[in-house]
Parts: sequence; structure tokens; C-alpha cells
Amino acid sequence: MALKDVLIDELRDMYSAENQLVKALPKLAKGAKNATLRELFSAHFEETKGQVLRLKEVFTVFGEKPTGEHCNGMEGVIEEGADALEKDEEGASFDAGLIGAALRTEHYEIAGYNAAIAMASTLGMKDVVDLLTQNLNEELSAADKITAAADPILKESAEEPEEAPKKPKTAKEKTSAAKSREDEKKAAVSSKK
Ligand code: FE
Ligand code: ZN
Ligand code: FE
Repeated sequence: MALKDVLIDELRDMYSAENQLVKALPKLAKGAKNATLRELFSAHFEETKGQVLRLKEVFTVFGEKPTGEHCNGMEGVIEEGADALEKDEEGASFDAGLIGAALRTEHYEIAGYNAAIAMASTLGMKDVVDLLTQNLNEELSAADKITAAADPILKESAEEPEEAPKKPKTAKEKTSAAKSREDEKKAAVSSKK
């Protein structure tokens, strides 16, 4: 498989990732308690719809269709965000969880665009590099804005009273706790090899 095919696969993955975010970002925007955060998520939702269109343009350059790959990575990252939205934390501490999830999605995208841009640039595809760089710059600026907005929220969260440690209650929490113990065990086995 030549580099161009690898790039097209990567871009199909990104296209799916962006489409998944078009669905997920309004939920983050609706869930955030902090007004600045809500506005940031809404603004990035609008940007994300534009990113989907730019990716479609990229596929026109290749003469290929954008569908064909589902991004499992983004599905997982969004699932983490859905967990954050289900937390029964209040105010700033609830938002602190959303910030962690949102920054994960931005950095996952940044990694994807950096890889795709390097490939397109190796192939000398300037139009593709330009379009992808516009998306990358929006992701970088979104991550910067979220980090800046996080500062007062995290400080406020630090002032909120601590809760007693909770045991996993729901079936989902129990499965997650069991799997985390499995991860630890498997790591211990691998470390000994
Ligand atoms: Fe994006
Ligand atoms: Zn993926
Ligand atoms: Fe993004």
C-alpha cells in the first residue's frame, strides 16, 4: 500500500471523527455550567461543521468519497466525555471533568492532522496540506482557548468541598473498575518479560 492510500485511510478516519464531534459537541455545550466554556464549545461546534466541509474538499482533490472508515479512537474519546457528563459533581468540578474530556478530543485531532499533513506534504500535495492546516490551526486554537478558560474553573473547583471516596455503584462503573485491575495485572505480566 502506497503512502497515498495510507493518507486516504487516515483522512477517512478524520472525516468520521469530525462527524462524530458534530454530534457530540452540542452535548458538551449544553452540559457545561460555565458560560465561557459553553460559548467555546458552541463556537467549536460551528467550526467543526466547517472542518467536515474542508475534508470533503480534500476528498474532491483525490477524486474519492470521504466515507468508508469509522474512527474507533474518537468513539472512545467521546465515550469518556459522555462519562464526564454523567458525573454527579456540581458546578466548577463538573466542568473540570468536561475540560479534561474536551482537551482529549482536541489533542486526538491535532495528532491526526499532524500525521496527515506530514504525509500530504511528503506527497507534495500543497492544496491538501493547506486545507488540513486550516483544520489543524482551529484545533490548536480551540485547545488553547479551553486551557485558558480552564484556569479560573479549576481554581474554583479546588475550593469546593471534597467528597468521601465512592465505591463503584453502577454496572458500568463496576466493569470499568474490574477492567482497570485487569490492565494493571496484564502490565505486571508484560513488565516481567
Ligand atoms: Fe475538529
Ligand atoms: Zn481513528
Ligand atoms: Fe476540534
